[in-house]
Amino acid sequence: MLSKKIQTALAGSSAIRAMFVEGKVLAAKIGEENVFDFSLGNPATEAPESVNHAIKDLLDETDPLVLHGYMSNSGYEDVRAAIAENLNKRFDTGFRAENIVMTVGAAGGLNIVFKAILDPGDEVIVFAPFFGEYRSYVANYDADIVVVEPDYETFQPDLAAFEAAITDRTKAVIVNTPNNPTGVIYAPKTMQAIGDILSKKEKEYNKEIYLISDEPYRELVYDGAKEDFLTKYYHNTIVGYSFSKSLSLPGERIGYIAVSDEVTDAKEVLAGIEVANRILGFVNAPSLMQKAVARCIDETTNLEFYDKNRRVLYEGLTKLGFTCVKPQGAFYLWMKSPVENEEEFVNTAKKYNLLLVKGSAFGCGGYVRLAYCVAHEKIVRSLDAFAKLAKEYQLGE
Ligand code: PLP
Repeated sequence: MLSKKIQTALAGSSAIRAMFVEGKVLAAKIGEENVFDFSLGNPATEAPESVNHAIKDLLDETDPLVLHGYMSNSGYEDVRAAIAENLNKRFDTGFRAENIVMTVGAAGGLNIVFKAILDPGDEVIVFAPFFGEYRSYVANYDADIVVVEPDYETFQPDLAAFEAAITDRTKAVIVNTPNNPTGVIYAPKTMQAIGDILSKKEKEYNKEIYLISDEPYRELVYDGAKEDFLTKYYHNTIVGYSFSKSLSLPGERIGYIAVSDEVTDAKEVLAGIEVANRILGFVNAPSLMQKAVARCIDETTNLEFYDKNRRVLYEGLTKLGFTCVKPQGAFYLWMKSPVENEEEFVNTAKKYNLLLVKGSAFGCGGYVRLAYCVAHEKIVRSLDAFAKLAKEYQLGE
């Protein structure tokens, strides 16, 4: 009855979503306040007030035929111009409205880019651990994912392994920094090295290789880290952005793709991405939300909210004897499982109503991910449950 591809997708259904559903079932049984659900990257701090104001004002001020109508498949011209201008101001880039395509979140954006550039049998390199949905997005276009292991000390990409993984079938490389699931920010020198390797390999194989920068967490950086913008490291860089996290709007499905003039045949690439938006059935990004984010383009979410969670959780877990990577950005904490089989650890954690996601969902077993985008008091209260978990594994003794 179902297609083979969907049968495969169903069989490998997202571990994160599964845990989220489990959390809801548990909450119905023992009360929401007693479940420490660290499974889903769903922001727990509201969108800035200006977003609601912008939506209300837009409804009052704008011709409904314009506000709710079809527009160009790449989005409203004024919205794209506002995004281009904002990027140029912050990152010294040279974007114009023509370089921007508005998308249905980061997921929609990645899919239209892959639709535009991938042929069956092409390879897409990802750096472990990585956002598990990349597997499905690449499989959608019958291309193959190639996983490069990290440097396990720093969770930066292993550059030698990366270089060795590039073949004449490599069409694209995905980077995601600040990273989901590790919270690590790729260092400028790492990004420069990735760019240099790609330039060398493009020449060697005499073909285009795209660096796809998936940046939903671009502004979520801590301890004075600087927001980075990756087009400066490599000419064939395509940027995918989402307002899901930076403005707490994941359900609204709004983001964009930016293709700079330095990308080879940029106009053709943009035309391909635009037509992919149409033929995949997205047609265009949600119209009201396009206009709303353009009005709030200088806003960001409440970083202090996440930072406080980050500090309390990292310090608390480390004190209990868990080995954690200190998050530098995004809102995830990457923790080593005290036993090799992290699924066993995830199951034991459930006894204390702690919902964690297994690292193998991100292509990196032996670790677990905690999404700390939850209410602060939950973080504080969860530490008692973690203390019991640590005791069960005889940590910190
Ligand atoms: N890429 C990464 C790394 C993510 O973490 C997420 C969502 O969690 C997405 C893409 C998808 O974002 P969106 O909801 O904007 O489609």
